[in-house]
Amino acid sequence: MSSAAPDRSVALVGGHVYAGAGVTRPGGVAVRAGLIVAVGSDDEVLAASGSAAEVIQLAGGLVSPSFGDAHLHPVNAGVELGQCDLHDARSAAECFDRVAAYAAEHPDDEWILGAGWSVEHFPGGMPSRVDLDRIVPDRPVLLHNRDHHGAWVNSRALAAAAITRATPDPADGRIERDASGEPTGTLQEGAVRLVRAVAPTPSRRALQEGLLRAQSRCFELGITNWQDALLRQHSPGIDGLTPYLDALDAGTLVAKVNGAIWWDRNRGPEQLEEILAAADRVGAGRTRFRATAVKIMVDGIVENFTASLSKPYRDASGRETDNFGISFLERDDLIEAVELIDRHGLQVHFHALGDRAVATALDAVENARRANPAGAARHQLDHLQMVQPEDVRRFRVVRAVANIQPLWACIDDQMTAMTIPFIDPSLVDRHYPFADLEAAGATLAAGSDWPVSSLNPFDGMHVAVNRTPVGVGAEPFLPHQRLRLATVWDAYTAGVAYVNGRDDEFGNLAPGMAADLVVVDRNPFELADSEIASARVVSTWVDGRPVYEHD
Ligand SMILES: [Zn+2]
Repeated sequence: MSSAAPDRSVALVGGHVYAGAGVTRPGGVAVRAGLIVAVGSDDEVLAASGSAAEVIQLAGGLVSPSFGDAHLHPVNAGVELGQCDLHDARSAAECFDRVAAYAAEHPDDEWILGAGWSVEHFPGGMPSRVDLDRIVPDRPVLLHNRDHHGAWVNSRALAAAAITRATPDPADGRIERDASGEPTGTLQEGAVRLVRAVAPTPSRRALQEGLLRAQSRCFELGITNWQDALLRQHSPGIDGLTPYLDALDAGTLVAKVNGAIWWDRNRGPEQLEEILAAADRVGAGRTRFRATAVKIMVDGIVENFTASLSKPYRDASGRETDNFGISFLERDDLIEAVELIDRHGLQVHFHALGDRAVATALDAVENARRANPAGAARHQLDHLQMVQPEDVRRFRVVRAVANIQPLWACIDDQMTAMTIPFIDPSLVDRHYPFADLEAAGATLAAGSDWPVSSLNPFDGMHVAVNRTPVGVGAEPFLPHQRLRLATVWDAYTAGVAYVNGRDDEFGNLAPGMAADLVVVDRNPFELADSEIASARVVSTWVDGRPVYEHD
């Protein structure tokens, strides 16, 4: 299609343009020197781009601001794509086969590392070391599950980490055990760290390759900007910034990335100095990479009973327990940390999943706004699996962005087997209240949490609009919480630009904005709601240059 130099003119004509708020018009976009110079009818676009412009036919498709992703883990995702990849496995048996095949293909690897198994494929969400021992008896195996809040290990890995029946659970996690107290091979949350600490870490080069693999995958799906939701030390000497800084040096980072630096919940406010130094190391004004946020995990997830809830979990027979989940930080410590981070102008990116975690995170933002009324940091709460009505209203009041992972808002096997039976029925009704948040004036940004779930924005849009899984005719989950396509489209474009503080650079089609574009093969706004996920990306553009073209 085009190998245009950055100063060349391009006219994209013969389709529809996305004008925001769900409005599409016939026409196209004119691009010069990497910027949008006109948005309008074909005649207007051709006039604005000049006679020397390269003309690209949209063939009835839609040109939109390219997508962003407000929460993903691209480096890990890219590395995992090169390891024992279980993401597509549809059963425990398929997992066993893949591990066996991978082990056979990698006879010299000292460890078998991988990720992507689903909790719903194993009884109680807990696979057994015995199965892995049968397949790989001679080497340690460490396989993260799809949501990365737990892992499956074999006996060799337990031995390498010196985990025995005598090993106590860490404060922030759990070693699953059988009736006799023997570890079974499933580790939850902080317990995974015990094995990860002795497993080999990816080399600097592997991280670099992982990032570039992820970047290509993003471009294929029309995503050109994102927030890396967790910049954390990979290994001694290699921190979360390293892959990005290496790619900047090599000139291979083309996407526009903001990053969230990990807040170590086992340390105190003194770590802010290091975070500020890291943000400084990146520098403030770079286009391709900025470290502008601090990631704080307020709680865990429902499936392993670590999401922080207002009502106690139930056991397998439906009886109330005394477990309300985990708050990773003491409330006062959280409030102090957020006030401090806010005072330094950085965004707090909260993992806040249970309703009690959401309330506490909003309390912390409210306190920071009171303590620092002039503060402009765009704090965001992510996941928002359950939100109480009184908290829905507070997003707008305290100016917190609701960062939603739309793909999760449906009844799938995981919801049926791992969530609904174990929580109070009143909490089921408070699940993913996207329409309530919109009605209350919350700013929405959307993200995938890839590799936890599909990176494809059309999949997320499908669920947000239908509240059913992609490709499956099912009962919609709380259908009154459906969003219009326009709302979720804007959350994937302008919303992500806003939460990253970059809404003056991209996320809208307007003259002067970067020509970061996605061309879609049809106009999704003219499709039935059930057909949204059938849309395909034709090409993706960054600064007026194609970075992906479907052939
Ligand atoms: Zn995440």
